[in-house]
Amino acid sequence: MIYLDHAAATPVSDKVLEAMKPYFDVEFFNPSAAYLPAKKVATDYEAAKGVIAHAVGAKASDLVITAGATEANNLAFTALDTEFIFHSGSRRSRPSPRGERANPRAAALRNTPSQNINSVLYLETEHESVRAVAKSYGGIAIKVLPNGMIDLEDLKAKITDETQMISVSLANNELGTIQPLAEIARIIREVKIDRMKRGIKTQLLLHSDASQALNLLDINVARLGVDLLTLNAAKVYGPKGVGALYVSHDARLRPLTLGGGQEKGLRSGTENMPGVIGFAKAIELAKEHLNGNRKKYASWRKILLSELKNYELINKKHCLDNFVVVSFPGLDAERLIFLLEEKGVYVATGAACAASKGEKSHVLRAIGLSDELINGSLRVTFGETNDEGQIIKAAQIINEIVKNERLRIGMN
Ligand code: PLP
Repeated sequence: MIYLDHAAATPVSDKVLEAMKPYFDVEFFNPSAAYLPAKKVATDYEAAKGVIAHAVGAKASDLVITAGATEANNLAFTALDTEFIFHSGSRRSRPSPRGERANPRAAALRNTPSQNINSVLYLETEHESVRAVAKSYGGIAIKVLPNGMIDLEDLKAKITDETQMISVSLANNELGTIQPLAEIARIIREVKIDRMKRGIKTQLLLHSDASQALNLLDINVARLGVDLLTLNAAKVYGPKGVGALYVSHDARLRPLTLGGGQEKGLRSGTENMPGVIGFAKAIELAKEHLNGNRKKYASWRKILLSELKNYELINKKHCLDNFVVVSFPGLDAERLIFLLEEKGVYVATGAACAASKGEKSHVLRAIGLSDELINGSLRVTFGETNDEGQIIKAAQIINEIVKNERLRIGMN
């Protein structure tokens, strides 16, 4: 098998599994329990959170552990629910009918009529777990340029005095495009200064989904200028269903689950001990191998592109080193994937969830690709299961299948 779909899932590494194992059986205690072994587990949990937080330049107390990136993204948007507020640093609740008027979702939660004020901007190429939530808050999409980068002029034009949150992923999950977060944060700072001068107190937060970037970019929340940052263990050789949301002191959230008050009231439910320990170990390993992996993937990208024939490169610049998106005009990528699988090569057409619904990629549409190019697009994502020999072999197999397909449908 040549697995080239690391953007969809990564295998849990042996070291991660090893670190997790004791927390399933030996150290199985509930961290909230009063006896000593449980207190040790609680200490291990905080230490693991510290490792995850440190990897992005934050503190353990800035993180809320979630069951994956989808939940972290959903939780981030609760910053718009100003009528019921908790903060990761200090727990407090603040009823705010004024906030409700400014926020349709908060009002909807109380079943009261609401004005439809658009308070969210999101990049049109975001993952569905951001897009769907942003839309539920009446969000407006920011355009991307044909190279997949955010259209900063469109962003500036769409920010109004009502805008409370802007959500732009650090790296796109279909193209690997890296967005200029620091530049976006700079624009936001200017808007805030202008608002301050005019006495407008509306919050303006920057959220970023960094699911795909965590093991390929050196991430620091202060450098990026984000208020909310989504992390995902499943993409960094950690367990699935484990994620985290970094929450700055400026952001106030509403918990999605109420109960025992874990995670400072922001995410009730018994802590996923093995999951968090595994996430911390995975991040530690990712940091250790970051530079080596980036170099390796960049060289494989060059090799793959020099070996492949009859393709059009879709993600040309500003993308993660392990992402190669190519289109074979005139061919059907769904069929190519099926034929490649028969030869043991696993690639994707786009986001796994969109592909499983049989929908055309909203990302490839957003960058203005023709139907022909969208239909023929393959996403190849390298990772730690690969070596250079596999990349060369995969290119040969793709070429052979593409050649046969072109012959079959009468292309020369
Ligand atoms: N955000 C991005 C950019 C992703 O690539 C994914 C997973 O594919 C998610 C969010 C959702 O992650 P999960 O399914 O682990 O909740």
